Amino acid sequence: MGINEIIIIVFIAVTAGALPAIIAYKKGKSFFRWWVYGAFLFPVALPHALFIGTSIDIGSRRCLYCHTQVRIDKPHCPKCGYEFIEF
Ligand SMILES: [Zn+2]
Repeated sequence: MGINEIIIIVFIAVTAGALPAIIAYKKGKSFFRWWVYGAFLFPVALPHALFIGTSIDIGSRRCLYCHTQVRIDKPHCPKCGYEFIEF
């Protein structure tokens, strides 16, 4: 394998790796870390990037009044303003 083939493979990996990085970045993740991850493990990183942030059950609770799913770090329900009691 010559140097040109290596450059082409690296270029494709870096370009392809930007796709899961963009998806992850839009979900608040580190662009650079996901870019590296995507370049090395593109077949894993792409479905992973698509999957993260889609499960609202992890780290969320249901408002007792309006039944909205609210993230666990939010002290109030964004819809009705119900204040969660910390246990
Ligand atoms: Zn509510």
